[in-house]
Amino acid sequence: MTFAATILTLYPEMFPGPLGVSLAGRALDDGVWSCETVQIRDFAKDKHRTVDDTPAGGGAGMVLKADVLAAAVDYALEMQPDCPVLAMTPRGKPITQRRIRELSAGAGVSILCGRFEGFDERIFEARPVEEVSVGDIVLSGGEPAAIMLLDACIRLLPGVMGAPSSGAEESFEEGLLEYPHYTRPVEWEGRTIPEVLRSGDHAKIAAWRKQRAEDDTRLRRPGLWERYRGARD
Ligand code: SAH
Repeated sequence: MTFAATILTLYPEMFPGPLGVSLAGRALDDGVWSCETVQIRDFAKDKHRTVDDTPAGGGAGMVLKADVLAAAVDYALEMQPDCPVLAMTPRGKPITQRRIRELSAGAGVSILCGRFEGFDERIFEARPVEEVSVGDIVLSGGEPAAIMLLDACIRLLPGVMGAPSSGAEESFEEGLLEYPHYTRPVEWEGRTIPEVLRSGDHAKIAAWRKQRAEDDTRLRRPGLWERYRGARD
């Protein structure tokens, strides 16, 4: 089954972009996923093909019009009724690896990319659109956020990654950061690979990795660590 990605954007030429290269690019060529773009401007209603207008209440920038967005979302829902529509916005729910796994197990995803100051808020009341943020940063548009989200989904699709196990041990999959990695040479600039990793003792290696995953999560990501402990207790 092909995972269907539909991107609603003012800049369709940005796709597949980086997703046309490496693992995702090969998977696209192999039909593991498909990449369709929808030009939001095609749904503008006037002869100037206007998609935005000034913000109510004043202020800088322009806001994407609700009527144009709704027509584009309706089209996506008609084309891909089994795919959720996600809008990229810093006001959305922060994306998680859990949600990425759910999405990648489904039929696909339609992604609405904002520009300028973002969307007329009423689109979220009027249509079944999930507001998603890719982190506490502000991008100039939703397209790089969409690329990031799709990349995370695509690598989980069956057959995309080399070893089937390599997805399972990754950061966040167990609610922890992953343990650190090393590779040859054993000594580099006076620094050696931890002894235990060279011991060949698989139980000891597993215990060390678990310990480092826990220690690093506690030190680097206190919030993640609290959630992990909460889920375990
Ligand atoms: N005025 C908005 C930011 C607009 S940035 C605010 O302050 O909330 C322009 C567009 O970039 C947004 O509509 C959104 O589609 C995208 N974007 C910016 N940052 C993002 C983020 N962290 N996650 C997802 N999309 C983002």
